Amino acid sequence: MRKPIIIANWKMNFLRDQADQYVAKLIKKLKNDRQIEVAIASQDLFLPDLIRIADETPVSIVAQNAHWENFGPFTGETSPKALANIGVDYVMLGHFERRELFNETNSTVNLKVRTALNNGMNVIVDVEELEQVAPVLEGVLEEQMQRIMIGFEPTFAIGTGMSASTKGAEDVAAQIRKTIKKLYGINVADATRILYGGSVNRDNLKDLINQVDIDGVLVGKAALDFQTFWELVQIV
Ligand code: PGA
Repeated sequence: MRKPIIIANWKMNFLRDQADQYVAKLIKKLKNDRQIEVAIASQDLFLPDLIRIADETPVSIVAQNAHWENFGPFTGETSPKALANIGVDYVMLGHFERRELFNETNSTVNLKVRTALNNGMNVIVDVEELEQVAPVLEGVLEEQMQRIMIGFEPTFAIGTGMSASTKGAEDVAAQIRKTIKKLYGINVADATRILYGGSVNRDNLKDLINQVDIDGVLVGKAALDFQTFWELVQIV
């Protein structure tokens, strides 16, 4: 019932041609007969190209951030309404690097989540720990939860080569589902996809994805090499 998803989080990497070629290659190889979703989170500049290339294909395109206002005097920021307008499939909010390097907090992430949802967008909201789940979802309506995925990315595991243990990741994912159940009831909890991120690679992916409460993964470093990412897609 919860479709598995693998997301390449490119972060601030690649140039335009590399980005375009990566997605074109992925589409060519991907025969989506296995009912999984494959998504690419790219820096904003490449999004219009990628959306065009991935149009009517099984590949989804994800923005890595958006502002909490739609318009206004916010020099250098990206409007969630503009992202919705160009047709991005998802926006990722609250990534650890946004919190750590750009001072985002649960309350700014929550504002961003609500604005993105109000623009009709699908949202991947990232948390590093269980305690962040309720605050980032504050004010999100039950009917909006079908457009939310939760990414659990423990701080110590991001970009370090040190993944959480499979059991540790599953325990937190199960707790997150319990929290969603408390907030929204069993049907929403059962339907919400919960993803793990943090040093996912070919050695740990299979075990992680086989866990009951882990419905997908966010892949950073290992997704920077196309061939490696393609191997991971085949494991999901
Ligand atoms: P990593 O990054 O796979 O390099 O740990 C994951 C992420 O930040 O989403």
